[in-house]
Amino acid sequence: MKKIILVLLLVICIIFPLSAQSRGIVIPNLNGYVTLKCDFHIHTVFSDGNVWPTVRIEEAYREGLDAIAITDHIDWHPHSKDINGSHNRSYEVAEPTAKSRGMILVKGCEITRNMPPGHFNAIFLTDVDKLDKPGYMDIFRAAQAQNAFIFWNHPHWERQQPDTTLWWPEHTKLLEQGIMQGIEVVNGTYSPEAHQWCLEKKLTMFGNTDTHEPMQVFTSGNHRTMTLVFARNKTSEAIYEALKERRTAVYYNQYVIGEEIYLKELFENAVDISVTKTGNTARITFKNKSDLVFNLRETSHDKRLTYFRNYTLYPYVIRSQSTQTITVRLNDGIESGDVNFVIENFLVEPSTGMKYTVKI
Ligand SMILES: [Zn+2]
Ligand SMILES: [Zn+2]
Repeated sequence: MKKIILVLLLVICIIFPLSAQSRGIVIPNLNGYVTLKCDFHIHTVFSDGNVWPTVRIEEAYREGLDAIAITDHIDWHPHSKDINGSHNRSYEVAEPTAKSRGMILVKGCEITRNMPPGHFNAIFLTDVDKLDKPGYMDIFRAAQAQNAFIFWNHPHWERQQPDTTLWWPEHTKLLEQGIMQGIEVVNGTYSPEAHQWCLEKKLTMFGNTDTHEPMQVFTSGNHRTMTLVFARNKTSEAIYEALKERRTAVYYNQYVIGEEIYLKELFENAVDISVTKTGNTARITFKNKSDLVFNLRETSHDKRLTYFRNYTLYPYVIRSQSTQTITVRLNDGIESGDVNFVIENFLVEPSTGMKYTVKI
């Protein structure tokens, strides 16, 4: 009987090897840090969402996320006729499922005010009920008393800032008082203004879904917007420390947005690059070991080198195309040079790709 079960298991593994490996997107770790896939802005029926908290865990587990925060509005409860009680309840309901799935669930909430200052999330709270106060500064103080991490949500939301994304004096005050520690650079869409503010004012970059409805099922190569956290290990404490140290990037619609120091390592750990030379021809082999896509475009370079104009490194899941060799011609007798290009979907400044050079 044991033998039959073993044979059956073997057959299942042979027939369904992809499904066994398909949970989660392969994104490399950095040197000394694990890359955790996180979504810190999620709603449930405990505010204006239409999904039960445990389902939020199952959705995130299915997509291979490591951590989520359920951030129901403290001040908006359209389902209160059927669902009421403590503001901690959505966390408490979801927590056992998170534990059984090996996922980190962060306790949080959304603070919902007109602009200024707009909406904010407070995460790593211990008791959300203590934030149920009328004045927003009192709420922020109560969150600070719990050592929460507080960030500005969707500054570019058209309902609040219809034509321009503005930074208000209230935001300067929140920054100066150490209340605002990050901004959503992506929530629905990308905000170049939020990206610029994070760089200038040394704030942590976030990309979250702010999902209210059930999550769609993503086909291979597609993904939810997420915050990549470069943490010392996969624990809640390590995520908190990484957020404080601004070690994050945003993964949105095949774009990665963040500080160059992290994006460069991400590229180098995702792609093996090797160069071979024969005569006046060099061949660069790019082996993409990740599920990230890299859109390369040539930039200014020594005109005696001829190489690609645009080039896409496809993700590892498209196996036949994950290793690519490109040819570089060395003209007029030169023996070496710099192949300069920009990775257009790796944004290191607002709407600006990351420069990279392969020496041949
Ligand atoms: Zn909001
Ligand atoms: Zn929200």
